[in-house]
Amino acid sequence: MKNYYDIPGDGGSDILQQVADRKSTIEENLRSIRHLVAIGSGKGGVGKSTLSMQLASAWRAQGMSIAVLDADFNAPAQACLGGVSDAALIPTRRGVSIPRTREGIGILSMGTLMPDREPLDLDATAPGDSHIWRATKEFTLLGQLLATVEWGELDVLLVDLPPGSERTIQHADFFGPRMSFVLVTIPTALACGVVARCASGLQNAGARTLGYVENMRGYYCAECQTIRPLFSSKDAVPFDLPYLGGIPFDPKLAELSDSGESLTNYPDLPCSKAVGEIADRIYQKLEE
Ligand code: ADP
Repeated sequence: MKNYYDIPGDGGSDILQQVADRKSTIEENLRSIRHLVAIGSGKGGVGKSTLSMQLASAWRAQGMSIAVLDADFNAPAQACLGGVSDAALIPTRRGVSIPRTREGIGILSMGTLMPDREPLDLDATAPGDSHIWRATKEFTLLGQLLATVEWGELDVLLVDLPPGSERTIQHADFFGPRMSFVLVTIPTALACGVVARCASGLQNAGARTLGYVENMRGYYCAECQTIRPLFSSKDAVPFDLPYLGGIPFDPKLAELSDSGESLTNYPDLPCSKAVGEIADRIYQKLEE
């Protein structure tokens, strides 16, 4: 049996042209999107998905056209956060039309395509190549989605990234200079260490990182209406990145998120104000 290295050239597959064609189809399909923003961290469970959806809602409330692409294919959250878990993708003549939240935010999430308990089948096809195959397949799927969805005119396409520093950097390579990154951390030394490594990986990859958001910065007590300490942040690693703002932990936000509701209906909550300020700061940087 011949292996890959025994075949001269591309074996007649014209693979390089195929890759170039796919790249230009994606570029063409994203042409009417003004800004691409990826919300990443490296760390899981720090609030990337929550922040993505709440930023989308804050911008939408200002009249912008927004869509969210849930790039966490194995643990999708955006269908639930946007309250569109039961909505279908609709094929049209120009591509695939994605579901919209009540507020009008477009959502592309595996959560609308697959039942919650079903894993996405990204198994290895060659022994020892598991990680590489998974990542390769994920990016193939991402490319297909970017190329076929009818995004329309958008002010911002938010991409909710999966956890993992190396995947965050792979996304920087995949999207290239059009993408701006926002990193999310929580004020613990453990999370900050991972996020700092992710930030320097992005810098080495030449990615544009707008700054970082500190989520769960204190705990909002609704009874006493004060923000109390949650983590001891004395050991938190300082970042060499602009600080975009902090969001307190508020059980109300977790409750709203689970029921697919937005903070924009609760403008007086400290976390709503914090998200609003962060949304303004990010948009200002995008427009610079
Ligand atoms: P990630 O996308 O980084 O894995 P999630 O956005 O899924 O993290 O958040 C993890 C959990 O924490 C979710 O249940 C979410 O509702 C909750 N959560 C995140 N940020 C806050 C916050 N500021 N206040 C309350 N709950 C939060």
